[in-house]
Amino acid sequence: MRNSADAVIIGGGIIGLSVAFYLAKEKYGNIVLVEKEQLLGSGSTSKAAGGIRAQFATKENIQMSMLSEKLFKSFKEDTGYDALFDQVGYLFLIKDDADVISFKKNYELQRSLGLNVELLQPYEIKKYAPHVSLDGVQMGTFCPDDGLGDPYEFLSGYDHASRKLGVDIELEAEVKDIEVISGKVTTVKTAKGNISTPLIINCTGAYSKLIGQMVGTEVKIEPYRRQIVTTGELDFVKPNFPMVVDVKSGLYFHKESKGLLLGWADKTVKPSFDISLDPDYTDAILEKALALIPQLEDAEIANEWAGLYATTPDHREIIGYEPTIKGLFHVAGFSGHGFMHAPAAGLVTAEILTGKTPSVDVTNYAPDRFENEVLADETYVI
Ligand SMILES: Cc1cc2nc3c(=O)[nH]c(=O)nc-3n(C[C@H](O)[C@H](O)[C@H](O)COP(=O)(O)OP(=O)(O)OC[C@H]3O[C@@H](n4cnc5c(N)ncnc54)[C@H](O)[C@@H]3O)c2cc1C
Repeated sequence: MRNSADAVIIGGGIIGLSVAFYLAKEKYGNIVLVEKEQLLGSGSTSKAAGGIRAQFATKENIQMSMLSEKLFKSFKEDTGYDALFDQVGYLFLIKDDADVISFKKNYELQRSLGLNVELLQPYEIKKYAPHVSLDGVQMGTFCPDDGLGDPYEFLSGYDHASRKLGVDIELEAEVKDIEVISGKVTTVKTAKGNISTPLIINCTGAYSKLIGQMVGTEVKIEPYRRQIVTTGELDFVKPNFPMVVDVKSGLYFHKESKGLLLGWADKTVKPSFDISLDPDYTDAILEKALALIPQLEDAEIANEWAGLYATTPDHREIIGYEPTIKGLFHVAGFSGHGFMHAPAAGLVTAEILTGKTPSVDVTNYAPDRFENEVLADETYVI
């Protein structure tokens, strides 16, 4: 392993790999990415549902998604590696009066930013989701540019492309400590040895606050367990089945293999690094799913797993320099939408670090924003 580098990226998930690729493309110099596990993507990236959408409630999140959707589409051209962005669309089902008001407002914002999103009457929803109960549904929103991707395919593409551009990727290299001298980072101390560097990019997702503790600062990211269940084959799931989100219950589902993937965020879960499966959580997902899709009565469970959301107080990522320590830059805390924002996050980070004007203005993602008034809470978090 190198003992010095121009930049050290901590974390080999989709964010760390995207940052590595775009930074190397900018010819930043010697870049080392260190990952604590034996395999890249072992953290939240391998647990993600694969949803990619631009329907958000805040300007920056919409812009980050729109840029990412563009980059997911040009992935092969940009990286040289194939990965499928399956644009089956995202359908939100809206039942409550308060949600009707906020989704209409967000629809206006999304349209004003150029997003191709539609408002749907209940009778129009049927064609996108014929097997879903529309009881109580007042309206829907649908964006045909949204869709699905396999996080591992995209991660592998970034991995190969980064290595080709000269990035050193070190596995089983857990960062144990960071040396700071006179307020500046100087050395990353890993299980495989030390690397001296003037720049550390924190891409450790749900583990970010542990990196903060190493340098005596508080990173406002908490880990929350989230679970997923997949079913066996279902004859009503066709190739164009979209991602569906039932806003009232919080249940989301999309096609997975020949069945469905079902997910839900239990908001009563307390922060912890525990990713053991909770059977009550699984039951709660299945109960919500049965209420919406009665045909699931006879479905078999194919798989289930738990992973961590890396959640910030306003449910928006942190991208920017740590104000108290020179040379520490965070790209973390994606609050459940880090896969879909990964291409834009990597590009924007590389632009900032090379002194360019970023493609999306991410000033409002600054790490110190929580000390000030919260500017906007992202309410489209599922
Ligand atoms: C159930 C579930 C469903 C989800 N669904 C979606 C979805 O549909 N769409 C979407 O966009 N997002 C989704 N997400 C969120 C998405 O998975 C994350 O936002 C994304 O994977 C974050 O990537 P990351 O690289 O920041 O984090 P991670 O993939 O967790 O990578 C961080 C890496 O840092 C490493 N690391 C940590 N500490 C150290 C250390 N000290 N030294 C070295 N390495 C270290 C970890 O081992 C890990 O590999 C979902 C998440 C979950 C849990």
